[in-house]
Amino acid sequence: MSSEGEFEGYGGRHVPEPLEEPLAELTAGFEAAMDSAEFHERLESLQKHYGGRPTPVFRAETLSERYDANIYFKHEDLLHGGAHKLNNTLGQGLLAERAGKERLIAETGAGQHGTATAMVGALLDIPTKVYMGRKDVERQEMNVFRMRLLGAEVEEVTRGNEGLAEAVDAAMEDLIENYEDTHYLVGSAVGPDPFPRMVREFQSVIGREAREQIRKLHGDLPDACVACVGGGSNAIGLFHAFKDDDVAFYGAEPGGKSEDHHSAPLSRTEQDEPQVFQGMKTKVIDEDTENHSVSAGLDYPAVGPEHAALQELGRAEYHAVSDEEALAAFREFSETEGIIPALEPSHAIALALKLAEEDRHDTILVNLCGRGDKDMQTAAEKFDLS
Ligand SMILES: *Cc1c(COP(=O)(O)O)cnc(C)c1O
Repeated sequence: MSSEGEFEGYGGRHVPEPLEEPLAELTAGFEAAMDSAEFHERLESLQKHYGGRPTPVFRAETLSERYDANIYFKHEDLLHGGAHKLNNTLGQGLLAERAGKERLIAETGAGQHGTATAMVGALLDIPTKVYMGRKDVERQEMNVFRMRLLGAEVEEVTRGNEGLAEAVDAAMEDLIENYEDTHYLVGSAVGPDPFPRMVREFQSVIGREAREQIRKLHGDLPDACVACVGGGSNAIGLFHAFKDDDVAFYGAEPGGKSEDHHSAPLSRTEQDEPQVFQGMKTKVIDEDTENHSVSAGLDYPAVGPEHAALQELGRAEYHAVSDEEALAAFREFSETEGIIPALEPSHAIALALKLAEEDRHDTILVNLCGRGDKDMQTAAEKFDLS
C-alpha cells in the first residue's frame, strides 16, 4: 500500500482539478498532525474527557453459552453520541482547527454523521453546515432537529435522488468554492485520498483498545473480528490493529430484503467491475438499484476502497445479512444481554452468531458500533410486543 492512498489499485484521488490543491494541503496537514505530540495529546484528552474513552469490551455470557463460543463486544455504543462517529469527527475537527479553518461542512444520510459533526462544531466553536438529501431530511426529522439544536445549519439537497450521494456532491461543490476557509469532514472511510486512510487512523482507536482489552479479559486474541460495513469506517477501525495477527476479519453488509443482496457491493453474487465513484476507485452497486436496508446508516451505494482490497487479498470476508436476520439478532441481543443495539451492528451480531453456530471460530469479537435508541420507531413498526 503506497502512501498515496492506493489499496491494491483501489482508492486513489480521482477528483476535478480544483480539488487537487486543497486535498494535497489536507494531506500535508494530516501527516504533520500525526507527527505532532501536541495534536495527539489534545485528541486523546478530548476522547477521554469529552467522548468517554476508553469504551469497554464485555463478554456476552448468555450468547456465549447459547452458541457454545466466546463472544465479546466492543462497547462503542457507549461513546458520546451513541456511536463510533465521534472518533472521526473529533480527529478531523482538530485538524480543521489546526489549519485555521473557519467552517466545517459535512454530508449526512441518516443524520448520525451530521449530528457528530455538529457536536464537534459546537465543541470547537466552528460554524457547521450539513448537506442532507431532501428525502432524508423528511424521514430523519429527529436528527435534523438535533443538528439544529447543536447550532448547525442543515441544507436540504433537492437534486437527483435527493439522498446521500447527492449530499456528497453538494458538499464537494461547496469545498471547491470555499476550500480556503472550509474543511469538508467526510463521514466514512471513503472518498478521495487522504480520507480513507485518515478516517481509518481516527477510527483505529477502536481496535487498539479492544486488542489490549480482550487480551486482559480472555487471556488471548480473538479468532475473528466482525463488524458491519456501510462505508466501512467502524469495520476498518476495528480490523486495523489486528492486521498482522492470526485473526480472521468479517464484514456484514446490508442485504436488505432482496435475495441477491443488491445493496451489498462486496457480497452480492454478480459483482460489477470497480468504478471511479466520488473521488475513489472502488466497488459500487448499480446506479439503478435502490439501496434499501432496514438500517439507514448502512445505505451507501459504494464501499471504502480498503475493504475492496482486503476482499481481493483474501484477508477479509464480506457477507450480506438480510433485514430479517438483522432484526432477529437485534431482538435476541436485547433480550439476552440487556443492551439495545443499533440496527447497523445488529447485522454484525447476526453474522457473528452464524459463524459461532457453524463452529467456524471459537472466540469472536464484534464491534457494537452504536446504540439502538434512534431505531425505536422502526423496531416498534416491526414487532408487536403488546
Ligand atoms: C454511520 C454508522 C454506520 C455505517 O458507517 P461505517 O462507516 O460503515 O462504520 C454503522 N453503524 C452505525 C451505528 C452508524 O452510525
